[in-house]
Amino acid sequence: MTRRPPWMATLPPTVGGGTPSRSRPGGAAGQPGTTRPAAPRPDAAPANRGPGGAARTVASPLPAPSGLGLASDRARANMVDLLARAGVRDPQVLDALMQVPRHQFVEPALASRAYEDVALPIGHGQTISKPSTVARMIELASAHLPRARRAAAKALEVGTGCGYQAAVMARVYGEVVSIERVRGLHEQARANLRSLRLPNLRLAFGDGHQGVAQGAPYDSIVVAAAGEAVPEPLLHQMRVGGRLVAPVASGGRQALHLVERVSSDEWQLTVLDAVRFVPLRTGTT
Ligand code: SAH
Repeated sequence: MTRRPPWMATLPPTVGGGTPSRSRPGGAAGQPGTTRPAAPRPDAAPANRGPGGAARTVASPLPAPSGLGLASDRARANMVDLLARAGVRDPQVLDALMQVPRHQFVEPALASRAYEDVALPIGHGQTISKPSTVARMIELASAHLPRARRAAAKALEVGTGCGYQAAVMARVYGEVVSIERVRGLHEQARANLRSLRLPNLRLAFGDGHQGVAQGAPYDSIVVAAAGEAVPEPLLHQMRVGGRLVAPVASGGRQALHLVERVSSDEWQLTVLDAVRFVPLRTGTT
């Protein structure tokens, strides 16, 4: 039996009607919603990768961040080291994580925990994602882009929250747009990001279900909150050849979905790890 995966509901009518050998979600036996497994799988769960990260080139000299100073540099280097050992391979993603002072994105009372691999509250019932989640999402979303192409690549984040992941993305991509639906968080992110001076990062306020059409097409889209399907406008705002990574909720569980746009009217879905994200909500507040 082939169950129609929830994300299909959002696809334009032409999807799935194309070349039978491609873009046939549900084709892999026993894995509803999973297309034929892509080989090789650079997206294997970090836990399966074993100690890796040999290629990483982190720990370039940094200006001391305000606040915790050198102690935070050390804590951050330690965090990046643990992420590399846990399987984050992309040197540019590791570099970016090293460059962004996560402690500046949480309230002072939580700053001492900023370099633990945990999600922390940021107000408005939302959280800053775990560093390992941020690393995995960006690594997956940019895996098709060789480093030389990233400076000219555009990315969209849905769910700015406190702005941390947007800042990391701005160190990986040439241009980043991030949209948030909670006004208070949108403003908080703007304040958090000010001192980092990232001219290639633009923050938008609105419902990310619609994406941000002005910046499209995007080479990568990262959704930081779980909906019941990937919103259709996002599929159309992807560049052909581009990648989207989003948590998708179904039956009380969430899984990370990787969508690759194979042509103007074909998308290929791969369902990855079980995850836990805050819900993707409708409208603004
Ligand atoms: N990117 C953040 C994670 C934030 S948590 C980080 O750097 O850690 C997810 C965020 O998605 C929340 O701030 C929530 O308000 C936001 N969100 C939920 N639904 C949304 C929607 N439809 N459009 C835009 N943002 C949304």
